[in-house]
Amino acid sequence: MSDFFSLEYAQNLDKNDELREYRNRFHFPLDSNGDKKLYFTGNSLGLQPKSTREYINQELDDWAKYGVDGHFEAKNPWMPYHEIVAEKLARVVGAKPVEVVAMNSLTANLHFLMVSFYRPEGKKRKIVIEYDAFPSDVYAVKSQIKFHGGNPETDLIYLKAREGEHTIRIEDIKAVLENQSDEIALIMLGGVNYYTGQLFNMKAITEIAHKNNIVAGFDLAHAAGNIHLKLHDWGIDFAAWCSYKYLNSGPGGIAGIFVHEKHLEKDLPRFEGWWGQNKKTRFLMGREFDGIRTAEGWQLSNPPIFQLAALNASLDIFEEVGMEKLNIKTKKLTGYLEQLVNSLGKDTIEIITPSDVTQRGCQLSIRVKNADKSLFEELTKQNIISDWREPDVIRVAPVPLYNSYEDCYKFSDILKKTLTKN
Ligand SMILES: *Cc1c(COP(=O)(O)O)cnc(C)c1O
Repeated sequence: MSDFFSLEYAQNLDKNDELREYRNRFHFPLDSNGDKKLYFTGNSLGLQPKSTREYINQELDDWAKYGVDGHFEAKNPWMPYHEIVAEKLARVVGAKPVEVVAMNSLTANLHFLMVSFYRPEGKKRKIVIEYDAFPSDVYAVKSQIKFHGGNPETDLIYLKAREGEHTIRIEDIKAVLENQSDEIALIMLGGVNYYTGQLFNMKAITEIAHKNNIVAGFDLAHAAGNIHLKLHDWGIDFAAWCSYKYLNSGPGGIAGIFVHEKHLEKDLPRFEGWWGQNKKTRFLMGREFDGIRTAEGWQLSNPPIFQLAALNASLDIFEEVGMEKLNIKTKKLTGYLEQLVNSLGKDTIEIITPSDVTQRGCQLSIRVKNADKSLFEELTKQNIISDWREPDVIRVAPVPLYNSYEDCYKFSDILKKTLTKN
């Protein structure tokens, strides 16, 4: 058996990895020698599947060949194109196909879903969110509060980690929801926090919320395609995610929403558009909206087919592999990187992502003491693509579909040398 901290050890792990071949299905940015860079930002923009071009070309060809008739005549008719995608998306997030649809972009969808699910009434009007939530989510909830005539200063409750801790404890979330249940209308958290990489127990939070008559929604930007989600079984009310991170659909790719089946027969308030209209009457051009009784009812416009095609290319890879296998590899691969980084024993860096595998996905957030960004800059010079998040964190996400144990070894080796030099 070779030394744990060695290239040979890493290569051996790759040899025994049944998903190792999937790496060859993606394009990697290359360094000046033509070698793959060490890509650890699948949590920001997933790599391009080599098949994406073919999927988009199909639609370009069909548009050229059929013009408007492509809505029905294309190989993948555009009229129901989103339905093919919905089935596959549903499997990725653990939902029924009727509960999901690909549409719009993430922040837009958070707003559309809050139109239905943030219904402040009297005193019960507050929203709960993480203190270090992604800024767009904070802007979205604050503006929803203002839209309903509320005051974000008093109507927004931030969940914070305890003094000296980095992640939020479930008992603290429970205490807030129980103690202020008369005043809280909605809890909306990132399923995986973008900064710390903490995975929340969405099932438990939803149960606590529902006991207290609070709606539970999640932003799954960092969870979709990363975590083995069971949105339906967990009873979550609604969720939204983007698909350009772990779902590899390309920059600005079409996003997705989930609305639990239990809400689909209700007449929830909603912003409506013709693509949400009953398909039998959509083209009768009437004045009365008769919404589809699935998540599709939330659609406004006819969808961007090229974006759906790119998403479809990626989802076909997920169909082949399945979230179960990806999750098994995540535990091993991220666990391996964690061990390597911790073995450096450097007191200038510290992993703030939970070490408990049930509280994280593939991302590790490495806090740099004294917020010294030069370490990150040095790593970047050495062909590592990771990212720096203010004030003091380097995020690295070994993605089970395309990162290797060798990538992780090389990262930690470069990190070790860089730390020793400084
Ligand atoms: C990436 C991300 C966003 C980005 O929003 P867009 O509307 O897709 O630009 C929003 N929220 C979270 C939590 C994210 O991680």
